[in-house]
Amino acid sequence: MEYEAVIGLETHVQIKTRSKMFTSVAYKFAEAPNTLTDPVVWALPGVLPVLNFEAIRKTIELGLMFGCTIPEITKWDRKNYFYPDSPKNYQLSQYDQPLCLGGGVEIEMEGANGSEMGAHRVVKLTRIHLEEDVGKLTHFAHDSLVDYNRAGTPLMEIVSEPDMHSADEVFAYLNAIRNTVSFAGISDCDMEKGQMRCDVNVSLRPKGSDKLGVKVEMKNINSTSNVRNCINYEIRRQRECLESGVPIVQETRRWDAALGITQSMRNKEDAHDYRYFPDPDLLPVKITPELLDSIRADLVEMPFDRQRRYMSDFGLPYSLTSVLCHDRELCNYYEASLKAYPKNPKATANMIVNDLQRELYAKLQQQSSQEEDVFEETERKSVEHSKHLEECLLTPEKLAGLVEIIDAAVISKQMAKEVFVEMFATGKTAAEIVKQRNLAQNSDTSELEEFCRKAIEANPKAVAEFKAGNEKAINALIGPVMKASKGKANPAVLLPILKGLIK
Ligand code: ADP
Ligand code: MG
Repeated sequence: MEYEAVIGLETHVQIKTRSKMFTSVAYKFAEAPNTLTDPVVWALPGVLPVLNFEAIRKTIELGLMFGCTIPEITKWDRKNYFYPDSPKNYQLSQYDQPLCLGGGVEIEMEGANGSEMGAHRVVKLTRIHLEEDVGKLTHFAHDSLVDYNRAGTPLMEIVSEPDMHSADEVFAYLNAIRNTVSFAGISDCDMEKGQMRCDVNVSLRPKGSDKLGVKVEMKNINSTSNVRNCINYEIRRQRECLESGVPIVQETRRWDAALGITQSMRNKEDAHDYRYFPDPDLLPVKITPELLDSIRADLVEMPFDRQRRYMSDFGLPYSLTSVLCHDRELCNYYEASLKAYPKNPKATANMIVNDLQRELYAKLQQQSSQEEDVFEETERKSVEHSKHLEECLLTPEKLAGLVEIIDAAVISKQMAKEVFVEMFATGKTAAEIVKQRNLAQNSDTSELEEFCRKAIEANPKAVAEFKAGNEKAINALIGPVMKASKGKANPAVLLPILKGLIK
C-alpha cells in the first residue's frame, strides 16, 4: 500500500516588543539568568497582569497579512499544569476565542535547478493566538536549573491545518512565515535564539483517503534542518510500523538531533487535561473596526507580492528577486539605491545580489568561522545580512553612484569590480576612488588610435581573418589595446576606431 504523509505545524514566534506580555519588564536573549524578572513573572501573591497592547496589535497585523478573520471579541484563558517553567502553575493563553481565525500562508516550492520559480500554493491556517512564553530549564545529570528571563515574553502561536505533505513543503512554509513576520518587523525569527520554534505533527494515511491518521507530535524543534530531518525520519518510522501491522499511538516524541531519531516522550495529553478556564484577572478584549482600519492602513507588502512587483515593474529576473525578497534589509537597501539612481534597476539589483552579498558574506565568514552550523544555507545568509547591512560603509546612495558612472561609461564593468571592493572596505564614493586612482576610461581618441595601430601591426593574422569576414577575429586586438592603456580604454570608443583603421 502507498501512504501519504499529513503534516500540521504549531509555530511559536516571539514578538519583538519593549516589554513582556503582562508586565513592564523587558525580555532580551542571553542575559544573566533571572535578571529580567519582576513580581508578576514570579507570580507573587497580589500581582495582576496588564495587557501589552503592542503584542495584540502585531498579532492582528500578521493575521491580516495571512487573510485571517479577526473576531470582534477575544479572551484569555489559563492553561493549567504543574511544571517548574512557570511559577504560576498555569500559562496565560487563548483557548476558544483566539485573535485570528482561518487564513492561509502562500508558499513556494523549490523550482527547477534551485534557480527557477517553483510552484506556489496556499497552506491553510486554523488560527493564530497569543500567549506568554515560559521559563527555560536546563537539565543536568542530577538536577536542573531554571531561568525565568523568558517567562512572560509575548508569543504568538500560528496553527496550520493538517495541510502539508512533505518536509519540503514544511520548509517552504516556515520560510514563508519567517519572511512575512520579519518583513513586518514583528520578530527576527532567529531560530538559534529561540525566536521561532515549532511543534511538528505527522501522520500517515493510505494514499487517496481523506480520513486523518493517528498523529505523532514532535515538540520545540529549533532549526529548519532539524525539522526536515525529523519529519523524514518520522514518516519512515510510521510507514515501517504500518507495514508491519504495528498501530501508531498518539503520543509526543522527542527529536534527538545527535542520534537522528525520534523517541517516545509521553502519551499525548488532551485539551481537557489542562482545565482551561477564562482568566478572571483579564477582561475579554474588544477589537474595534477603528483599530482594524488603523492596522490595515500600515500593513507592509507581502514578500511574494513584492517579488512579483520587482519582476513586473523593474524587469528583474526571478533569480535576483528571490534573493532580494528573502531579506527585508536587502529590499530596503535596494529601494534606497533606486531612489538615488532609478535608471538601471537591473544593474543595481545585480550589484547588490552579487557584489554586495559576496563582500558581506566574506566579511562575515572572517568574523564567525567557528560558529556551529545549525542553519540551512539560505537561512544563514539572510539572518546575517541584516546585521551587517546596518554597519555597511557602502551606503545605498554610494552603490547607486557606482551604477551611474558605469552607465555613463566613465569606468568599465571590469574596473567597477575593483572600485566596488574598495568602496565596500573604505566607504569612499565611486567618484572619489576614480579620481584618486585616475581610473576614468580613456576616450581620448588620438592616444587610443596610437594603441590601436600598434595592435594591428602586431597581429596581422587576426586582421586578415577580420577582413575575410570573421567579425570575432577583432577581439584578439582588444586585449593588447586594453593592456597598453592599462585597462582604461573605453570599449565603446575603441571598437569603431579599430574597425575604421583596418578598412
Ligand atoms: P492537539 O489538540 O493535539 O494540539 P490540534 O487539533 O489542536 O491537536 O492540532 C494541533 C496541530 O496538529 C495542528 O497544526 C493540526 O493541523 C495538526 N494535526 C491535527 N491532526 C493531525 C493529523 N491527523 N495529522 C497531522 N497533523 C495533524
Ligand atoms: Mg496543540
